[in-house]
Amino acid sequence: MTTKTLLFFLWFTPLLASARDEPVVLLINSYHPQYQWTSQLTQGIKDVLITSVSTENLHTEYMDKRRFVDDLVYHAKLINLLKHKYQRYEPDIIITTDDHAYNFMLEHGDSLFPDKPIVFSGVNILAPETLERKRNIVGIEEGMEIEGNLELILQVQPQTKRIIMLSDTTGLGLNMGQRARQIKSQWQTDPEKQHVTLDIWDQFSIDELYQKAESAESDTVFLMLAIHKDKLGTYFSYEHHLPILTRKSKVPVYGMWGTIIIGYSGLGGMMNNPYDQGRSAAQLAVKILDGVPLSNINALDTANYSPSFDYNQLKRFDIDLNHLPINSTIINRPVSLYEQHTRLINSAIAFVLFLLIVISVLTFNIKRRIAAQHKLHQFNQELESIVQQRTKDLDNRNKELQAASKILQAHAYTDELTGLPNRRAASRDVLAHIKRYNMDYQPLAIAILDIDLFKNINDTYGHQAGDEVLCAVGQTLKELLRPNDSVYRWGGEEFLVVLPDTVANFSFIVCQRLTNKISQLSVSNIDSITASIGVTNFIKGDSFETILQRADKALYTAKNSGRNQVVIG
Ligand code: GH3
Ligand code: MG
Ligand code: MG
Repeated sequence: MTTKTLLFFLWFTPLLASARDEPVVLLINSYHPQYQWTSQLTQGIKDVLITSVSTENLHTEYMDKRRFVDDLVYHAKLINLLKHKYQRYEPDIIITTDDHAYNFMLEHGDSLFPDKPIVFSGVNILAPETLERKRNIVGIEEGMEIEGNLELILQVQPQTKRIIMLSDTTGLGLNMGQRARQIKSQWQTDPEKQHVTLDIWDQFSIDELYQKAESAESDTVFLMLAIHKDKLGTYFSYEHHLPILTRKSKVPVYGMWGTIIIGYSGLGGMMNNPYDQGRSAAQLAVKILDGVPLSNINALDTANYSPSFDYNQLKRFDIDLNHLPINSTIINRPVSLYEQHTRLINSAIAFVLFLLIVISVLTFNIKRRIAAQHKLHQFNQELESIVQQRTKDLDNRNKELQAASKILQAHAYTDELTGLPNRRAASRDVLAHIKRYNMDYQPLAIAILDIDLFKNINDTYGHQAGDEVLCAVGQTLKELLRPNDSVYRWGGEEFLVVLPDTVANFSFIVCQRLTNKISQLSVSNIDSITASIGVTNFIKGDSFETILQRADKALYTAKNSGRNQVVIG
């Protein structure tokens, strides 16, 4: 051995050892790999084994017994072939699918793989007594669900009068036919079911089956049991012949073999699932490989059958979906728009809800604001009306005050006894006249009138009479003077007369007219009422004081000159 060869072995020995250290599994399938049922079963097995067994250590055999059923020559060759192959690759465990591989292992397992554990799946017909003797065999019984399917048919199509069960004369077909005949005889004596005719057909060519299906009565249905081949020995393919049969058939075709019925135009039935069976069997195998003693493992598990239907077929035969069991699986059901776009629609709904919430909050706020504005408006209006009322009150008060003020003013500038403007009014008015005089120098005369010996009148006739004289003199002055002239009670029994636009001569004449008229007065039988007047005209540079002094002086002169006369100053 050269060094190179030695290195090669040193390199590969650990790899070979590791491949060998891992468990070797032999999977023997009853049928061929293209058979949907078988491919689903093996897929279930592989999906579980993938974590425990490397791919190269899983050896898979296909006995092809659907196409070579009852072929003894083929069978003998197969034994030899498997014997030859697995002397070299000795398996740690054998997994079988369906009846033929199971029966093969029952018969040849001890000689081919002595004491090796065997896990079966998909077995319809078990021989429990054989199983009891063989402690190294455990597995999943597929069994058959003829009765459950018959019950289901009556539930789904209560008007059914005839159920034709299709089978053949090979092992499984015969066995199922036998079980079907037992059920038929039970139903014939059952008052609730005897109105339904159960037929078992196992002698037909595929063409004859088509023809019968085409002319089936409307109250009839078909139930597929197991058909490997027709009476002419033609292989019956579920993938090829079943869709033709169901298309031609006037009535529904039920079945129980999940994948090969439901996907190929069968209406439905109590179905088992080959993938699930494969998984269950592989899980058992993994437990055994992990060292769990066979004695601790339940030797027999049973496959589940559950109602499954094809939506298209249900519609084709106008079957009321309400008749289906609640736990039914329905394939090909049209996907609703919602199911197609669930996330998008949910998001849209959530968004719309969010918007609605936002709108509600905004609407609530707007309403609150409007209410607040309304309140504010009301409050403003109330405030405005209060202010208006107060303003009105204030105006009234002002008017009252103004009126009161006018009255007060009037009182302040009026002499109470005679009703003439008083001394204060005279001072005010004369100042205004002076101001005007200083602007236009129009003639202006001032006269001071004093009742003569008034004290005597008081003393003689009483103060009341004196008052009357004062009033009579004031009235006379007012009546005699022109509208532009003014007369004031200057104080006591003295009156001030202002004569605008009156030259000196004329003012003298006016004042004489006044003294004349007063001397003619007759008040309370008083003998004589006379008055003296000092009158003077404004000259440039005069003030109120200087002109008054001049008028006073003239009056004084009048008094001293005998009274009842006018002196011009
Ligand atoms: P003479 O001619 O020099 O002016 O004499 P006389 O008496 O008029 O003058 P005198 O100043 O001595 O008297 C004025 C009187 O007028 C004195 C006063 O009692 C009286 N008197 C003043 N005011 C009033 C008044 O309002 N009513 C009455 N009844 N008498 C008044
Ligand atoms: Mg006097
Ligand atoms: Mg007098």
